[in-house]
Amino acid sequence: MRDDHVDVLIVGAGLSGIGAAHHLQERCPGKSYAILEAREASGGTWDLFRYPGIRSDSDMHTLGYRFRPWTDDRSIAEGSKILNYVRDTASEAGIDRHIRFNHRVVGAAWSSEDARWTVRAERVDTGETVSVTCSFLFMNTGYYRYDEGYTPELPGLDRFAGEVVHPQHWPEDLDYAGKRVVVIGSGATAMTLVPAMAEDAAKVTMLQRSPTYVISMPGEDGLANRLRKHLPDRIVYPIVRWKNVIAQGIFYRVSRKRPELIKKLLRRGAIRALPPGYDVDTHFKPKYNPWDQRVCLVPDADLFRALGDGSAEIVTDRIEAFTEDGIALESGGKLEADVVITATGLNLLFLGGMKIAIDGAEPDLPRALTYKGMMLSDIPNFAYTLGYTNASWTLKADLTSEYICRLLNHMDAGGHRICTPRVSDPAITEEPLLDFNSGYVLRSIQHLPKQGSKEPWKLRQNYPVDLRMLRHGAVDDGTMKFSSPPPRAQSEAATQALAASS
Ligand SMILES: Cc1cc2nc3c(=O)[nH]c(=O)nc-3n(C[C@H](O)[C@H](O)[C@H](O)COP(=O)(O)OP(=O)(O)OC[C@H]3O[C@@H](n4cnc5c(N)ncnc54)[C@H](O)[C@@H]3O)c2cc1C
Repeated sequence: MRDDHVDVLIVGAGLSGIGAAHHLQERCPGKSYAILEAREASGGTWDLFRYPGIRSDSDMHTLGYRFRPWTDDRSIAEGSKILNYVRDTASEAGIDRHIRFNHRVVGAAWSSEDARWTVRAERVDTGETVSVTCSFLFMNTGYYRYDEGYTPELPGLDRFAGEVVHPQHWPEDLDYAGKRVVVIGSGATAMTLVPAMAEDAAKVTMLQRSPTYVISMPGEDGLANRLRKHLPDRIVYPIVRWKNVIAQGIFYRVSRKRPELIKKLLRRGAIRALPPGYDVDTHFKPKYNPWDQRVCLVPDADLFRALGDGSAEIVTDRIEAFTEDGIALESGGKLEADVVITATGLNLLFLGGMKIAIDGAEPDLPRALTYKGMMLSDIPNFAYTLGYTNASWTLKADLTSEYICRLLNHMDAGGHRICTPRVSDPAITEEPLLDFNSGYVLRSIQHLPKQGSKEPWKLRQNYPVDLRMLRHGAVDDGTMKFSSPPPRAQSEAATQALAASS
């Protein structure tokens, strides 16, 4: 059992955790920190997912860090390039020296007397339990379970003689060349897999229960690539980042205010990209409004092209049962398959599944309110990163880290050791954390904390608004309460620490 203490403990060495460490090194250079990572590698999502065609589905000028320009010609980038970008960020700034791999954090206990967290982690490689104490705990564990993707009940699946693969656990040696592939699902993963697998498979069928809105965008950003010929990256990057923030913001807000207009535009886009007579209304016209669920982006119309050249098809139907050689459909049709890909989604997981205790009591996390989308009511010295649902994750991740650094510096300047967001306005009512009705959100929303009806408890999902609040707004806003342990407890804690170290 190894015991040690850091000022800030970051959990998770994915895009967010490495970004958080970078901000911390730059803005709070005096703080000691460590990163605990459950896996034996960094990069999170971008290391885990290895399916054919894996790529971003938002542009890298906003999915990239604010502090590190994205310089590749591709704006919708391959997963391996994103992984290199994250890892290069870590190695160039010496962040990787702070990562402790194979440490799965399972619990964290806060002591108000000592103003510190004791964090318990299981060593995935040795089975040992390790405990680390920290003054501030910063969770960067993403939003879904790593060990298991979501697979719905698929009747008769065990009868199927072919191979069944979930994209989260892609076998390196899966050979689908010349085979008949059925991809079940209609989310971003299915949309990525279908054109990528269609290049080698005999035929790829995307089997969806209901359609998704799909929009095609150029895989390269023309403005970025033109400007980069004349100007340095540090000038081009923020220009393109802001262009994309504004464009995405307009698209999102018009979608919410005038859904009929956006529905018409999306339909027209699909009709134009598909062969004449294609049944757009069956396969690309959802019943819900755009951004009730995520709108799927496909680069350079690759999905539409695969549908157009016949290497892929979409079937909108329901599974009646698997048979030995395929899937029987409720409509009476049948899909023959050698390989079935269950692109049926993720299992949401908040805080990496970690249990929390505050002075010995377990807080009711689903009743907690999110403060500025990064801390929780009544939980001291604790933050988490949760990106936007309607824009690139990193826009919010960067702001979150910047704000936490401001908060830590504010506490040092005022001699405070504890910061706790407290709800004092009785008029604040609870709302669900996410206003999305995608299956993966609905399956887990009851386990997530809530948002409040008013700022700073309300999630705006709006980068310019958050930027104003988090980069420029007051840290001491009346809601965040600052304190320190009573002097007696402090001196007792110091004596205990001295005794333990001697
Ligand atoms: C296939 C796919 C494509 C995506 N594409 C986009 C996109 O184009 N644009 C976009 O904005 N978003 C996208 N997302 C969302 C994406 O997850 C985020 O953009 C981003 O990668 C999240 O980074 P993160 O570091 O917060 O989380 P993750 O990448 O999930 O990393 C979390 C890290 O924390 C570790 N961890 C988790 N629990 C524990 C624990 N208990 N103890 C220790 N370590 C732990 C994990 O092992 C992992 O390394 C995509 C998601 C998926 C699944």
